[in-house]
Amino acid sequence: MWRRNIVILLILGVVLCLCCDEYFHLVGRTTNALELNISNRKRCQISRRFVTRSEALSGSSLNGSKDGINNNSNNNDVVSPIGRLEELKQQEAELSRKLTEIRMEKLSALRSKPLTIGVVGFGRFGQFIARTLSKHGKIVVTSRSDYTDVANDMNADYVPLSDPESFLDKNLDVIILATSIVSFESTVKALAPHLEAYTSKTNKGPLLVDVLSVKEHARDILLEYLPEECDILCTHPMFGPDSGKNGWHNLNFVFEKTRVDKIVFDPKNKFDFDDNNINGRTSDDISDSLIYSNYNKNFEETYSYTEAMDIIERFLSIWEEEGCRMVPLSCKLHDEYAANSQFITHLMGRILGAQGLSKTPIDTKGFESVLKLIDSTTADSFDLFYGLYKFNKKNSLSIIQQLQVAMDDVVDNLKILEKEDFKKRQLQHEMDIQKTLRVTEPTSERGGTETHTLNRIPYTE
Ligand code: NAP
Repeated sequence: MWRRNIVILLILGVVLCLCCDEYFHLVGRTTNALELNISNRKRCQISRRFVTRSEALSGSSLNGSKDGINNNSNNNDVVSPIGRLEELKQQEAELSRKLTEIRMEKLSALRSKPLTIGVVGFGRFGQFIARTLSKHGKIVVTSRSDYTDVANDMNADYVPLSDPESFLDKNLDVIILATSIVSFESTVKALAPHLEAYTSKTNKGPLLVDVLSVKEHARDILLEYLPEECDILCTHPMFGPDSGKNGWHNLNFVFEKTRVDKIVFDPKNKFDFDDNNINGRTSDDISDSLIYSNYNKNFEETYSYTEAMDIIERFLSIWEEEGCRMVPLSCKLHDEYAANSQFITHLMGRILGAQGLSKTPIDTKGFESVLKLIDSTTADSFDLFYGLYKFNKKNSLSIIQQLQVAMDDVVDNLKILEKEDFKKRQLQHEMDIQKTLRVTEPTSERGGTETHTLNRIPYTE
């Protein structure tokens, strides 16, 4: 009996063990499944956070990671990027259509009321700009020399400089001052009383624009002598008859709206120009806000302000239409930049030109560029070069000094290298002698005495 009971107990034990094993398997599998579930949920959360962040950055879910896309099947929250590109392209095309429409409207506004533009100083640069400007308005020129034929050739009127009244009687909207830098002050001084007389009759003067290659000097002179009824726009087209002979596309046009409706731009509010984008604002935002930053009056609502700005915008639009890259910049900053770019270019061209360099049958591309630099800089008058130096003296003098120091440094480096080279060869020479003597020593009868003498033979070149 007790044997039967033992057998039953054994069987019960085995059954119990088997049940426990199954139980632990089951528990194990459930735990694994739970863990897997939790980690999957975590991954979903991470990927969702990633997509949301990239959406915030890019404005779309196009940047979805591999994770984000993989989770798409499990997680319906992730936005599919499919079709978004197409949508963006359509928006882009729409904007481009709108831009073309605006440009066409702008052009027709410009053409509906062409400006009458006077040019004072019809030399190399005056003629160069007048030829293009004549496509956009009526041109009247005045100069010391008689340029009647050249003027007729471009459908412009010529009036001698000695007759300023007749010049002003042409109802000019704009007067461009394109005389040499060195004669600028005397020209403005001579013109000022006639402008005074003109504005006392009309109450409104033409817009005065200078194109001088130095800007602070031009600004000071214009503000000093011109009647306040004349608005002032200081400009510098950063190109000339050579660089602009094939059109003005992408060439820089620097401008400062110096005085608009009797309000003067404050140069202390100087701003920096950062490749097309001045803190995300357009040229007009910048120029306008700077001009008026010190004033509380509601000038923008006045008719005279609107009228003044209209002429300025019409004039600037011509350069814009010709493809210039419009650069609003204070006169002060212009002069700092120009000394480092324009003056140094002219200086190098003049220095190299003074060497009497000329073409050879074996010119390299580098040398061809040197000759081009000489040609383009010496084609301009010496007056222009002198003006660049004299009327931006602080900056131009420092450029000359830096150039002299740099020249000395470069020559010094060459001399140092040459000295080191000499020392190396001297050493080599002495080592060669030692070697020769060592080879010949065993057969030498006099031995050491010969070595001593030969060692003293100095190295010369
Ligand atoms: P320029 O030698 O600087 O100036 C020549 C002009 O100045 C001629 O119209 C000349 O008139 C006039 N002029 C000279 N002395 C005069 C005086 N005592 N009284 C009245 N007028 C006088 O050569 P430019 O290249 O034609 O330059 C003209 C202006 O444009 C300069 O202010 C220059 O900075 C600026 N600019 C030139 C370039 C360029 O690439 N050349 C580029 C941008 C800006 P007459 O011919 O009747 O004697």
